[in-house]
Amino acid sequence: QFQNVGFIGLGNMGSRMVNNLVKAGFKVTVNDINRDVMKMFTEMGVSARETPYEVAQDSDVVITMLPSSSHVMDVYTGTNGLLGGENAIRPALLIDSSTIDPQTTRKISLAISNCNLKQKRDVREKPVMLDAPVSGGVLAAEAGTLTFMVGGPEDAYLAARPILESMGRTSIYCGGSGNGSAAKICNNLAMAVSMLGTSEALALGQSLGISASTLTEVLNTSSGRCWSSDTYNPVPGVMKGVPSSRDYNGGFASKLMAKDLNLAAASAEEVGHKSPLISKAQEIYKKMCKGGHETKDFSCVFRHFYNGKDE
Ligand code: NAD
Repeated sequence: QFQNVGFIGLGNMGSRMVNNLVKAGFKVTVNDINRDVMKMFTEMGVSARETPYEVAQDSDVVITMLPSSSHVMDVYTGTNGLLGGENAIRPALLIDSSTIDPQTTRKISLAISNCNLKQKRDVREKPVMLDAPVSGGVLAAEAGTLTFMVGGPEDAYLAARPILESMGRTSIYCGGSGNGSAAKICNNLAMAVSMLGTSEALALGQSLGISASTLTEVLNTSSGRCWSSDTYNPVPGVMKGVPSSRDYNGGFASKLMAKDLNLAAASAEEVGHKSPLISKAQEIYKKMCKGGHETKDFSCVFRHFYNGKDE
């Protein structure tokens, strides 16, 4: 059983995930480039270190929860990074939960197997990396109900499960390195496109004279039903407690959806996969962001279709 867990990236998601690790009894050591957030954690009695390298020295497992691929690359391979320092003693397990492209995950995983690292615990010869991005957002991070999609060696996944389960309700093993990242960007692609389809249908329905509530009832009992129609409806007033009913505030920002679509586009290009719907979704979300909606929930794309109003 791992006890000492390092955590790097204490933003909207990471800070809440750390709280749940602490509640579950893990001894957590944290790092972030934001000194204010580090101070907040030290005041709560959590140990903080100046660099990822120092976190690695104190941890059996290190989790990263960072904005994008370049940040993850930097924290792993940059100066004072997790892989820095020849012959340094390392954690057994490195888990990246950021949403990044599978190619970057695989590059880092390969860098780990190629470099001369010794690990702290005598379980394997080298540390092992898992990609374990999450679905669920800030509320699920707070409630400890995230879903983890995990790529990497299966025995490492099994060893990591108690840690993942302290922050999430579900974890799904997706196969080798990068498959967790691939699952995450494919899930978000499906979510982006189904939100666009639902929004377009509900906007057209209103133009044809059927109310959004009635059409939603029809969709939800017919073959058009999906998460965007029955759980996260994009039309203001149709459902309570969703971002569309609070002027699209809170939830999953359009700029994060645009970022995830860019990851899907780059990944598709790298493997030579044609993806016309990624391109169209990218175009619409970019337009929404440029139009001043970048911090609004991604379901605000309904505005793009409503009454033909092209925001
Ligand atoms: P965030 O921007 O709130 O937090 C990122 C944190 O990383 C910040 O505190 C930042 O200071 C820190 N950081 C950046 N560079 C660093 C470095 N070099 N060293 C140490 N710390 C560094 O982002 P977030 O919303 O917590 O999201 C994190 C990841 O989770 C992203 O990849 C995002 O796509 C993904 N995600 C977010 C949500 C969501 O709803 N917010 C949901 C699922 C997945």
